[in-house]
Amino acid sequence: MVTLSAEQILGQAERLCQQRNVRMTPQRLEVLRLMAQQIGAISAYDLLDLLRVSEPQAKPPTIYRALDFLLEQGFIHRVESTNSYMVCHHFEGPAHTSAMLICQRCGTVAEQHAEGVEQIISALAQKEGFALRHTVIEAHGLCASCAEVEACTAHESCQHDHSLLSKKRGRGA
Ligand SMILES: [Zn+2]
Ligand SMILES: [Zn+2]
Ligand SMILES: [Zn+2]
Repeated sequence: MVTLSAEQILGQAERLCQQRNVRMTPQRLEVLRLMAQQIGAISAYDLLDLLRVSEPQAKPPTIYRALDFLLEQGFIHRVESTNSYMVCHHFEGPAHTSAMLICQRCGTVAEQHAEGVEQIISALAQKEGFALRHTVIEAHGLCASCAEVEACTAHESCQHDHSLLSKKRGRGA
């Protein structure tokens, strides 16, 4: 899928806000800019730490209000299973359900559209007479480069960074 630069993301978001007649405040824009610089998803508190570099008085509600706005506009997605947020790289397109492929070693999150899966889930919901509102599809595993590193056995002669270990999903953590 297409990956946009931080400048492209900010430019598109500002343009859409103008079109929709909603207010992209400098603070919301700054939160989006910080998110666009992340490789993977980021938690609200890590984001708050980053925002405090330029806005020392920022408080948790500051971040949550900005995140709510960005979510509403479809500029970012929430990654439910890791309680974090990531920039969407195709928010100019229609609203979409995505499959989030979360690397448990390096933390990158790859977003893939999930039309087929959405249809299956809505068919299952229909069978149950269930009024479906919101679907989350998240998968945990290793991204391509981490899978390669984990499969490598030539630690002395390779170029990999083997110091990073897979985060085992915490028991009770
Ligand atoms: Zn998206
Ligand atoms: Zn990875
Ligand atoms: Zn290696």
